[in-house]
Amino acid sequence: MKTTCKRLAAACVAVLAALSLPACGERKTAELELFAMDTYMSFTAYGNRAEEALAEAGRTINELEQRLSRTREGSEIWTLNAQGCADISPDTAELIGQALAYAAQTGGAFDITVAPLVELWGITTDTPRVPAKAEIDALLPLVGSKHLTLTRSDPALTVFDTAVLDPGCAVDLGGIAKGYAADRVADILEKYGVSDAVASLGGNVYVRGTRPDGTPWRVAIQDPLQNGCAAMLTLSDTFVVTSGGYQRFFADPDGTIYQHILDPATGYPVQSDLLSVTVVCPDGARADAYSTALYVMGEAKAASFWQSCQAEVEPFEMVLITADHRIVCTSGLADNFTEQEDASYAYEILAH
Ligand code: AMP
Ligand code: MG
Repeated sequence: MKTTCKRLAAACVAVLAALSLPACGERKTAELELFAMDTYMSFTAYGNRAEEALAEAGRTINELEQRLSRTREGSEIWTLNAQGCADISPDTAELIGQALAYAAQTGGAFDITVAPLVELWGITTDTPRVPAKAEIDALLPLVGSKHLTLTRSDPALTVFDTAVLDPGCAVDLGGIAKGYAADRVADILEKYGVSDAVASLGGNVYVRGTRPDGTPWRVAIQDPLQNGCAAMLTLSDTFVVTSGGYQRFFADPDGTIYQHILDPATGYPVQSDLLSVTVVCPDGARADAYSTALYVMGEAKAASFWQSCQAEVEPFEMVLITADHRIVCTSGLADNFTEQEDASYAYEILAH
């Protein structure tokens, strides 16, 4: 169903301007920028304890990276992949538990055990390559949630403290860790009584409360085909996560583009009819896992997945940018959505 949406010129500029506004009244403004989890992150928070909150958020993100990185020697995930078994902290156990649940919900489109294939392709490394089909086929049997188990070293424990992998299998939390980190940032802001803030962890954005002028935050959806934004979402108290092939890829000498999200069913980079997927929901890890999964699914399956989730206690909303130049926005976001004036997309609302 097509609809006419509000238009807004130079919306991307407005987002940047919003971030540099001074604090309203006597409230303090705190800002933090860091490079972690292989991406640039920035945080702005308003309130008396905003600075303390962001300092703790920075420490927490660095700690999470030390535990969750696949490539950092000695991390819990590195040890799990190297030894097939590792002691894990409660955070890591919680995150792996969530990842397994999202793998089940998405029919394996999101699957952290895709790691052996991520490693084989090396798409986000300095030495990516196109493997032979035989190499891919040899690793496919190692992918699947059944190969990963959470256990307790002592039956009296209330939480899992050990992860076990089948031989040859491995875990990559790259599709969910930033969303989980955003959830922890939200917890920290809550703990310090910070009512208004915006956090950007790569393609993962968290907006809390309002901008200093009392209006909702504006989150730009990047145009996958050119610099600038394709649409704008006006939101409060939620997570906005975008996945897309344009974010990370490598080009073969023959000109073929191989992007970083893999289809766990085939072992190849997704050949999607989507350019990007943006998920909006009040849980950062879920938004992160779903955005990756829906990109793998493609437009038709993503639309049915959204429909099937509407009956749940916690439905989600999404914006799909398709390869044939349409922007499909789910009905729950229609009032929050503003199309970019000069973007060359047709706009549609997906209703129940
Ligand atoms: P995202 O940017 O959140 O969509 O996550 C993409 C990253 O997750 C990739 O760079 C890989 O590290 C990893 N990944 C790739 N394909 C998948 C998949 N199908 N399920 C889970 N993680 C994946
Ligand atoms: Mg993701």
